[in-house]
Amino acid sequence: MTADSRFTTTISPPNNTVESRNLNTDIRYLKGVGEKRAQLFAKLGVDTIGALLRYYPRRYVDYSRIYEIAETELGDTCAVKVTVLQKKNPIRLPGGRLMFKAEACDDSGTMTLTYFNNKYAPASLTVGNQLVLYGKIGGTLLRREMINPVTVHDWEQNALMPQYPLTAGLSSAVIAKTVKTALDQYGDLIEETLPDYILEQYCLQDLKTSIANIHFPKTDADAELARRRLIFEELLVLQLGMSLIKQGNTSKNAAVFTNTDWEGYSEALPFSLTGAQARSIDEISKDLRRNVPMARLVQGDVGSGKTAVAAGAVYLAHINGYQSAVMAPTELLAKQHAETFQKLLKPFGINVALLSGSVKAKPRKLLLEQLKNGEIDLLVGTHALISDDVEFSNLSLVVVDEQHRFGVEQRSKLSRKGIDPHVLVMSATPIPRTLALMIYGDLDISVIDEMPPGRKAVKTYFVDSSLRQRYLSFIVQHAGDGEQSYVVCPLVDESEALENTLSATEYFDDLRKGPLSSLRLGLVHGKMKPAEKLKVMNAFIDNSIDVLVSTTVIEVGVDNPNATIMLIENAERFGLSELHQLRGRVGRGKTQSYCILVSDAKNSPAAERLKMLTKTSSGFDVAKYDLETRGPGDFLGKRQHGLPDLGIADLVNDEHTLYNAQEAAVTILKNDIDLTNPLHKGLKSEIDKMFETYGASSIN
Ligand code: ADP
Ligand code: MG
Repeated sequence: MTADSRFTTTISPPNNTVESRNLNTDIRYLKGVGEKRAQLFAKLGVDTIGALLRYYPRRYVDYSRIYEIAETELGDTCAVKVTVLQKKNPIRLPGGRLMFKAEACDDSGTMTLTYFNNKYAPASLTVGNQLVLYGKIGGTLLRREMINPVTVHDWEQNALMPQYPLTAGLSSAVIAKTVKTALDQYGDLIEETLPDYILEQYCLQDLKTSIANIHFPKTDADAELARRRLIFEELLVLQLGMSLIKQGNTSKNAAVFTNTDWEGYSEALPFSLTGAQARSIDEISKDLRRNVPMARLVQGDVGSGKTAVAAGAVYLAHINGYQSAVMAPTELLAKQHAETFQKLLKPFGINVALLSGSVKAKPRKLLLEQLKNGEIDLLVGTHALISDDVEFSNLSLVVVDEQHRFGVEQRSKLSRKGIDPHVLVMSATPIPRTLALMIYGDLDISVIDEMPPGRKAVKTYFVDSSLRQRYLSFIVQHAGDGEQSYVVCPLVDESEALENTLSATEYFDDLRKGPLSSLRLGLVHGKMKPAEKLKVMNAFIDNSIDVLVSTTVIEVGVDNPNATIMLIENAERFGLSELHQLRGRVGRGKTQSYCILVSDAKNSPAAERLKMLTKTSSGFDVAKYDLETRGPGDFLGKRQHGLPDLGIADLVNDEHTLYNAQEAAVTILKNDIDLTNPLHKGLKSEIDKMFETYGASSIN
């Protein structure tokens, strides 16, 4: 078949001639893909032939080895070649399930085929016909059975068959078949994206072969070579894209801080800064002296004192005559930040204001006027800071707290309000350095790896709920000494009902009426109005509440040094890093603090994870363990890192390749800083594709 005749068999728009054949062709023009299937493919993010070829399988099943019935073992998943002996009538089981059984044999024995809820199954089998089936071997030692076997088509035999991430209505077999058609008809159009010198230096396979083999490898080794190249390419594209964003930042004009002497600031603090805090402020000062906008991440465990570092930067902005903004993820945190900054910066006459969604129209108007005419030096707030009517007089520094809750887009929207302000990002999610370099590739990094002195490690215990009386009396006893406690539950109220899981609302009622009736209790949860939440939080911080019952609204940043007990019910429902953040809410003062993890998950992986927390107080260790046991997909959910989606690479498990890709990116950019060299055309277009839905405007 020639290319021409092949092509005319597809449903093509009139002007879609052979000459215009290209990988951007809509997938619906591919043979076997109609309107309906195209919509299903769209759900997988596949809209063009090119995107289809880049839709990689996760794993393969081996159809190449055909087993004899007699040699199969119970529990094996394998292919058999059988002749259909007899078909029974389909029957309806009690409960409505449809069941169809047939008998089949090969030279070595017979087996039963059982299909559930498959109305097409009877027609797919013809007595006397031979066919290849793939499935899991069940039944008994004497009588083999395959349940819901898959019929292996002729063209699928003798091969490792790709298994794709699926959507309802689209099977791996259909995807594979569509990919095969695409490869046959369009495969020749695949152009190499990597320059020769990179292919050679890292011994990588060419793109055409890699794409063909990632879908249809003949051997495991074929698949591995293809994977290796595609992972490398993807990580390289990601790294280059991040570098371009970073460069984009450096081409602009930022306010130059001529005075970066922060001695006055540190002298006025009620404590002396740790070495790590001082080093971070120094690094920030260096950035601020340049006309290039700072883009720096300050990473430090909970309680390491990031706020004092950020306030140092605000101090510098002030003495240079500039305004600052601090953006926090929740109203609660914004309010607390406003107070903390106020306290730290008061000696210098810095005027701090809070803008949140709950500021009423009139005071809001006044506040905005003061902001515009420069009477306010530091504005603290939530997303409300990026509303269009918020105008600054001369904003030059933006501090973003807990970066993982903000997307890159929000950051840049805020940046657009000033004249390329310096940006400081604070994060309490400790991640390994190579990973941080990738995720925050557009940022420089300062690490606060030292805790303020005098901190006692939080004693962490893992108990089951049968000890409830005991740990609740522990809370009562400490309240007697004037200490406060947090009680955290996974759910807000019973409307979310999960079996055996406590909700904050109900638990609050139980505790108030029963075991903690002698104490002053408060309740906060995500469904409450911001103003109500604030009232309760304030009462807790003022020590007019002994025990704060809550959901994880207290997770980020809230600071009450007088709280010494963190009790977490149904601890198995939280991620390790989340639990570590919660634990960081206590141990902030001089008194010994405790974290009590309650869970009835015994001898399970969940219990193992909780035990791990009792053994370490280092956020870096916790993150590492979390990454290893949960995998990066969960640990670095998209929402958390804000990176583009990856199709094949895995930021944690492919760390070595990540390292190589970072090295290659440096080499490439050394000679072609903006990727305009024709050698890098392919890479540039892959970067555009990857970052398309990701504020691509910032990539030059
Ligand atoms: P995080 O890094 O979690 O944001 P914070 O900035 O909230 O930590 O600081 C935690 C607590 O430690 C605060 O109460 C703060 O006042 C205190 N703190 C910060 N730096 C120091 C220091 N160098 N010495 C003593 N206490 C400090
Ligand atoms: Mg903080």
